[in-house]
Amino acid sequence: MANCCWRICTALLTAVLTWAMVPTTSPAAQTQVTVPQVPLEAFSEEDGPVLIDPGHGGIDGGTSVGGILEKDLVLDIGLRLRDVLLKEGCPVVMTRERDEDVSHRYPSPLRSRHARDLRNRVRIARESGAHLFVSIHVNHSSASDPRGAVILHEANDPAGAWLAELAKKQLFGITGRAIVFPNRSLHVLRRAPCPAILVEVGYLSNPTDRQALLDPAYRQRLAEALARAIRAYRITSPVPPERQKKTPIPAFQGMALCGGPKWT
Ligand SMILES: [Zn+2]
Repeated sequence: MANCCWRICTALLTAVLTWAMVPTTSPAAQTQVTVPQVPLEAFSEEDGPVLIDPGHGGIDGGTSVGGILEKDLVLDIGLRLRDVLLKEGCPVVMTRERDEDVSHRYPSPLRSRHARDLRNRVRIARESGAHLFVSIHVNHSSASDPRGAVILHEANDPAGAWLAELAKKQLFGITGRAIVFPNRSLHVLRRAPCPAILVEVGYLSNPTDRQALLDPAYRQRLAEALARAIRAYRITSPVPPERQKKTPIPAFQGMALCGGPKWT
């Protein structure tokens, strides 16, 4: 079974291990983004909905350890994020709200279920007029050391990069480690019609992260942290709104469906 986060993580492993093995940077060095206090009224119907995309689902469990499935954790976090944002008046669209993939949401001639699933997630964003695209995943490594959040954004998406920095700032306070990576090969990031990030909220392969992710209260804190980042983005993005509607970057031959090309 295709396993998105395993591929992502395999490729990120070298970078993350490298990062983990360098002398420990101070928390201050990792949190350079200044996030102001943001009033609740920052949200407006006119902003368009935030698309929340819990990864995987249905036949695609994502990564797993000991029967703990990524798809279940990220759905729970996504639903919690949905509820926080709705409570604050932010319109929300979900790619899924139950244990299912979205490969059958729209008819498609593509034979690959995985390809249909990822393309449909982007199509949901496009047809909903999403203002932001937030895909939620859980990471995995062959080593147990890597831990913390990894936030990916498309390399040529400055608004997405800004949202990623805000998410890093907020998640760092929950996970203790958070890093941002620009990416050029993730399908949902390249094809999203709006600023987009893919958030790996933690490593299922790390005992500390795994134990934390099994705690509903921790998942609620993650959801609230992401909501704060989204709220901050609404009023702090240096990218003018008229430039935030980006033209999806064309697909290319051999383009990764979820991980980088070498992992497909
Ligand atoms: Zn995943």
